[in-house]
Amino acid sequence: MIDVALASAIAASLAAVHSRLERAAARSGRDPSSIRLVAVSKTFGPDHVRAAFAAGQRDFGENRVQEGLTKAAEVADLPIAWHLVGHLQWNKVRKAVGPFAWIHSVDSPELLRRIDAIATERASRVPVLVQVDLAGEATKYGAPENVLDSIFEAASQCRFTAVTGLMLLPPYVEDPEAARPWFRRLRALRDEWRGRGVPEAWLAELSMGMSHDFEVAIEEGATIVRVGTAIFGSRRAVAA
Ligand SMILES: *Cc1c(COP(=O)(O)O)cnc(C)c1O
Repeated sequence: MIDVALASAIAASLAAVHSRLERAAARSGRDPSSIRLVAVSKTFGPDHVRAAFAAGQRDFGENRVQEGLTKAAEVADLPIAWHLVGHLQWNKVRKAVGPFAWIHSVDSPELLRRIDAIATERASRVPVLVQVDLAGEATKYGAPENVLDSIFEAASQCRFTAVTGLMLLPPYVEDPEAARPWFRRLRALRDEWRGRGVPEAWLAELSMGMSHDFEVAIEEGATIVRVGTAIFGSRRAVAA
C-alpha cells in the first residue's frame, strides 16, 4: 500500500521536474525523450521509491552500494533500473556488478578492469560512465583528465563492460549559471576525445546536472540528469 499523501506529493514534484526538463530541452532544441531522468533516492525508503514508480519513474540512483542493494531488494517486484551514482569501492565491486544496471563512477583503469572481470564471470553486460574530476578537488572522486587515456585503453580490452559516456559532479555552487562552465567543459572534453578517435558509443552519454542546476546541464548537452531533492524533498542529515 502506498501512502496517498506521499504518493500525490511525489507525483506532483515529479511532474514539476518533467516540465522543467521539457522547457530546458525546448530552449536548446532537444528532444526531451533523449534525456534520461534518474531519481536519486538515497536516504529515502522504499515507500518513496514505490510512490515515484507509481508516478511513472523507472530509473533510480543511489550513491552507496549497500543502501542501494537493500532498497533494491525491498522493491524487487518493480522493474527498476538502478544507477550507482556514488563512488565504487574496490571491495564492493563484486556486490555492485549485476544489481546496478548502470555504474556512473568509474575513475581508474584498474576499477574498470575489475568491473569487467566480474561482469565477464557472470556474463552480465554493464554500461558504465567515466566520472571526470575537472576541478582537481582532492576531496572528490573522479578521474583527472590525464587518466582518461588509460581508461579508454582499458575500455578497448573490456569484454562485458561498455563505457558509454562521462559523468560529472562539479563543485557545489549556489547559482546554477555558475555551474555552466563545468558542464560546457565536460561536453568539450567529450568532443575532444571523439576527435581523437574514441568510438562515438563510448561517449554517447553525459551524466550531469542535479536538482538545482539540471536545466543548465541540459542546455549544455546532458543526456542523463540525476535529481534527488526536487523529487523526494530535502534529505535528513545522515552520518557519512
Ligand atoms: C545526491 C546526488 C545527486 C542528487 O542531488 P540533488 O541535489 O538532491 O538533486 C546527484 N548525483 C549524485 C552523485 C549524488 O550523490
